[in-house]
Amino acid sequence: MFHEIQQDCRSELMTGTSVALFEYSLKWLRQEGWEIVSLEACLERLARDLQPRRYAVLTFDDGYRDNVSTALPILERNNAPFMMYVPTGALTRTLESWWLGLRELVRSRDTVTIDAMGMRFRCPDFRNKTVAFDRVAEWVHEDYHRVAMLAPTFRRAGISLSALNETYFLDERELQVLARHPLASIGAHTASHPALACLDVLSARAEMADNRNYLEELLQRPVRHVAYPYGNSRACGSREEHLAKEIGFSTAVTTQDRHVFDSRPNHFALPRIGVGGRDTSAAFKARMNGVQSAVHVLLGHN
Ligand SMILES: [Zn+2]
Repeated sequence: MFHEIQQDCRSELMTGTSVALFEYSLKWLRQEGWEIVSLEACLERLARDLQPRRYAVLTFDDGYRDNVSTALPILERNNAPFMMYVPTGALTRTLESWWLGLRELVRSRDTVTIDAMGMRFRCPDFRNKTVAFDRVAEWVHEDYHRVAMLAPTFRRAGISLSALNETYFLDERELQVLARHPLASIGAHTASHPALACLDVLSARAEMADNRNYLEELLQRPVRHVAYPYGNSRACGSREEHLAKEIGFSTAVTTQDRHVFDSRPNHFALPRIGVGGRDTSAAFKARMNGVQSAVHVLLGHN
């Protein structure tokens, strides 16, 4: 699982994946004998229960511009298919992209006051900026109702989420072009990117169904796969799995950090391993190997 693939990740407070780590991860997969396949090809292999070749599916969330400008040429050089999950609000510029607003706030100021937290952060340098960003982001992830509580802070600081959406996310025309690329698949990621588990059932259903209809209309092709926003146990669970199935999706992905090692996994709660943030290439490798060995222990292999 990737989000942004950043040329200058320091200025973005190391919130995405660096080009170097992105390239390293693809090279590492190839060297270790992993084949990179599309999600559809992965499902076919699972259905045929092929043993025991390892394969990986690359996914990108949210529809960032740098996925096309920076990652796509690298994906093309590697002939690597990929899935991109896109919320409606990114394309229509209405997304409440609090993480972009928070990053902008923290990197442009030496002191940041978050009224809703009743906290003030001194952040004149890179290290303190990352600390402040992480602390506020953690506070939001603890309770997604807090997203709305950041809006007055952004407004007072003159930060426009709609302008940030324009800067960072692909537009409708660009997504239409990308969807015709032979390596690309486009999946759903809800209308407004909420934590679905915090919504009533009708709203949660509409978030998924409306986004799917919007993308199918825009791209003139079926949208069979969805990624739950945030993807953790506070944001989605069995209710969302039922909804995704009922709406007609074939799969749904979470952010549960592990491999699929079962030929019949729950197609509506597929796990994904995130690559990025402040991971170094050594950390990435250790984590991939660590997860692998944990799985082997679980299966009783040596
Ligand atoms: Zn997302």
